[in-house]
Amino acid sequence: MIFMTEASNLHIAVIGAGPGGYAAAFLAADLGMKVTLIDPEQNPGGVCLFRGCIPSKALLHVAKLIDESRHAKNWGVDYADPKIDLPRLRSWKEGVIKKLTGGLGVLSKQRKVEYTQGKAAFENSTTLRVARSNGTEEQLTFDRIVIATGSRPAVIPSLKLETPRMMDSTSALDLSEVPGTLLVIGGGYIGLELGTVYAALGCKVSVVEMLPGLLPGADRDLVLPLHKRMEKIFDSILLNTTVAAVKEESNGIRVTFDGPEVKERESLFDKVLMSVGRKPNSEIPGLEKTQVKVTQRGFIQVNKQLQTDDPAIYAVGDVVGEPMLAHKAMHEGRTAAEAIAGHKVAFEPNAIPAVVFTDPEIAWCGLTETQAQKENREIKVARFPWAASGRALTIDRTEGMTKLIVDPQTERVLGVGIVGAGAGELIAEGVLAIEMGALAKDIALTIHPHPTLSETVMNSAEVFFGTSTDVYRPKRP
Ligand SMILES: Cc1cc2nc3c(=O)[nH]c(=O)nc-3n(C[C@H](O)[C@H](O)[C@H](O)COP(=O)(O)OP(=O)(O)OC[C@H]3O[C@@H](n4cnc5c(N)ncnc54)[C@H](O)[C@@H]3O)c2cc1C
Repeated sequence: MIFMTEASNLHIAVIGAGPGGYAAAFLAADLGMKVTLIDPEQNPGGVCLFRGCIPSKALLHVAKLIDESRHAKNWGVDYADPKIDLPRLRSWKEGVIKKLTGGLGVLSKQRKVEYTQGKAAFENSTTLRVARSNGTEEQLTFDRIVIATGSRPAVIPSLKLETPRMMDSTSALDLSEVPGTLLVIGGGYIGLELGTVYAALGCKVSVVEMLPGLLPGADRDLVLPLHKRMEKIFDSILLNTTVAAVKEESNGIRVTFDGPEVKERESLFDKVLMSVGRKPNSEIPGLEKTQVKVTQRGFIQVNKQLQTDDPAIYAVGDVVGEPMLAHKAMHEGRTAAEAIAGHKVAFEPNAIPAVVFTDPEIAWCGLTETQAQKENREIKVARFPWAASGRALTIDRTEGMTKLIVDPQTERVLGVGIVGAGAGELIAEGVLAIEMGALAKDIALTIHPHPTLSETVMNSAEVFFGTSTDVYRPKRP
């Protein structure tokens, strides 16, 4: 519960207006603090709204529509091949960003947050030098400062090329054109999501990943249906393969591959998207004048209240560590604001959901099977195949699967994993179950609406007890 305290006497600065920063700033203002929010953009939003979650999901929605229109012939509905009007597609995506970020600008004003367009540097633990975008500079002193400077695309230095043919996630989302061929370096979620968009728009997409599977870190049974589908929509998926060299030529980028499964050592691509992870923005000028500590991986070190080693400075979001996700950043931002207000709070979630917005989607939360194996932890896994779901059949998406990871002794739900259409929406039930300490029985006894995909969560709990109505999986003695 949030109580109003003497926080009203505090003046805080938040550096960076992404989900972590604006969530911290808005709650701090709601708690009565005077707040200055600093970011180079015209409005709050950060990477998530301007060049991350939101533009990618807008484009993925279009990709899904194109795909469904093609698939509709299986249901007796024939559409002509879609004509892509790229400028209109771009302006629709930009419109979504403008509406959302503009809305945050209005919310900021309504809360009387002082929004400063510019960049901040530290003079000491409580003083910032703010270089405004209008060219003026000012030194300002605060009671507390929250660092929410986020992250940026990582680059492999030996593969860096200064040419528009070499893209990162930001330039890929600009969608300046649809190339004939595209190589995505990195089989993580950002590469697969953007590869899906370009493939739907008619580009021949190849993906190269140095590890043996796509989406390293996710349970393999969740990845398998996605992999099968990606094999259909992508030109090729190269696993156990690294990119040894890239060279720009007059008509593309020549890529040299290395690895035991490589058949063609060299290929030419119109464009290359480097999506090999993200790096925290912890190199804030003047940070060395404070007591803030940065880990070897570049993350700012914080405690459970998101306070750094400098008592006047807090840090939240991508800059403090994995998972680098917007919803984690927002919750950290809110926790930091409450901690500054003097509330007894800690950021210690039992489950942070992860969603890959490909088609099918993959989502998981809490304990994964991979993690349980690593920790040698005894678990029981109950899987419900969507082939037995009425709803999945009606939308022709039976490749999905929902699973519960359960503690065999207490029967408590420890983790949930879902692959299938809309998994990203469905996973919220798993997060709530884990946070509420639900038992498998609680889920089995909760009446879910029929026919829905949400039923598969209940069905997987029934599978745990060997008594699912829709599949025959008797419990072994
Ligand atoms: C293509 C893509 C897709 C993504 N999709 C998802 C998704 O679907 N779901 C999800 O949860 N996450 C997604 N993410 C990740 C998500 O965008 C980040 O986790 C989230 O934006 C982190 O929020 P943040 O507040 O930590 O920082 P950011 O959003 O990175 O914002 C930091 C802000 O600080 C500013 N800044 C930096 N230094 C200074 C300074 N010195 N002074 C002032 N301002 C400064 C930056 O300009 C930036 O505006 C995606 C990311 C990408 C790239």
